[in-house]
Amino acid sequence: MALGKDYATQECSIASALEVVGERWTLLVIRDAFYGVRRYNDFLVHLGIPRAVLAARLQTLTAQGILEKRRYQQSPPRDEYVLTDRGIALWPTLRALGLWGREHITHVRLRFFRHADCGTELGPYGECPACGTVVPVPDVEVSPGPGLNPDPADPVSRALLKPKRLLEPVAIDPV
Ligand SMILES: [Zn+2]
Repeated sequence: MALGKDYATQECSIASALEVVGERWTLLVIRDAFYGVRRYNDFLVHLGIPRAVLAARLQTLTAQGILEKRRYQQSPPRDEYVLTDRGIALWPTLRALGLWGREHITHVRLRFFRHADCGTELGPYGECPACGTVVPVPDVEVSPGPGLNPDPADPVSRALLKPKRLLEPVAIDPV
């Protein structure tokens, strides 16, 4: 293995995690999976990612047990990619990264994350301040904030203009 390509000398669990999720695009593929994106073409149009890179990231994430392939069509064979429990466990990381980005870089409210059961916005640690519980990922509702483009070009972004629960497959209108 070439020197400098990994963090093998680091005795650190952050370094170990970055070996798995630290490549460019990887966390955004995982983010989309939380939003309910499951199919190759939907990742492609939503991320605007080169095809070869997307294929490589999906393969790595599947090999690492973060995404799981599920066949949804037999002929021609088509698979979709769904987060495993190991992948869903990355939610607090993505949530914290998003909050940090908003507070320190973008200063724009792009999406709201709420407890679906009561409509209260999540606190910084993914908790519902009204219910006093950490909200399970499937009970988090994502909805557009004022900073989000209200007329996006791609069908996945358009579908995400409607409030939905995380992990629930995104409902894309046929073109
Ligand atoms: Zn609540």
